[in-house]
Amino acid sequence: MKGIGRREFIKYSCGLIGLVVLGKYARLPFTLLGTEALSTKQATERTAEEASERAVDGLATVVDKRNKFAMVIDVGACIGCRRCMWACKKENNIPDTISPPWIEVFELKSEVDVTGHPSLQDLKEGATTSYTEAPREGRWYLPVQCYHCDNPPCVKVCPVGATYKDKDGFVLMDYARCIGCRICVVACPYSARRFNWLEPEVPADEVNLLVPVRPLGVVEKCTFCVHRVRRGKLPRCVEVCPVQARHFGNLNDPESEVSRILKSNLSFRLLEEVNTKPNIWYITRGKKWLQ
Ligand code: SF4
Ligand code: SF4
Repeated sequence: MKGIGRREFIKYSCGLIGLVVLGKYARLPFTLLGTEALSTKQATERTAEEASERAVDGLATVVDKRNKFAMVIDVGACIGCRRCMWACKKENNIPDTISPPWIEVFELKSEVDVTGHPSLQDLKEGATTSYTEAPREGRWYLPVQCYHCDNPPCVKVCPVGATYKDKDGFVLMDYARCIGCRICVVACPYSARRFNWLEPEVPADEVNLLVPVRPLGVVEKCTFCVHRVRRGKLPRCVEVCPVQARHFGNLNDPESEVSRILKSNLSFRLLEEVNTKPNIWYITRGKKWLQ
């Protein structure tokens, strides 16, 4: 085979060096982008992993059987501002890709009796969660979420025991067990359960490390902020309500705020007739915001 001459050698060598240099710098932005994307992803994964580990700790905090937690919502006081809904999203790492959020606030016409038992028909007719200003005259507001029922159909139908009821009243999810069959979603008469259709995206620096970031393909719902309550705090929605429409506490303590409110006010629960025994009571002490 004929060898290459000096001139050709230099030409090929320069070409090769040029290609290497060009290739190196041409790849640089992609390498940097790739590295950046990878590290952000890794950071999110690490945070989510850490959050899940800590959250498991949080959920595993000792269940005090002497407690039975419940909520009372004063629909006469609620101004429909939806601060509870947004605070819940922030607190529980609920990304904007999940819709609807764990808490929803319905706006209803005044003809639907505030003090009575709104039927499903009442709630359907003229009720909306997508109002743009509140409070409006002639309307009242009904926040809804998981009711942590004492007789929860969602728990009964789950084929793998991924949803369960703890002795202190919380109905919770074991996300690692959930197979995403969504039977519980159908069984819940309150439409309180959400399915993760999309990979959740919560910015790494916004993740609440006490709450697990739920993966794609599992069902989730309001936890009554179990990670806070078992550490002696109130659920976030109760804490942020600007008109104290929400009250939370231990029903087994006759002196707790919720026990005293329920003793001295007429109250109702949604769909009592289906025997789910929900643990959120509604009361009305008048439309304070109109006074
Ligand atoms: Fe289960 Fe629905 Fe009752 Fe919550 S409101 S405990 S999801 S049946
Ligand atoms: Fe009603 Fe309070 Fe929620 Fe506002 S924060 S929508 S007033 S319950």
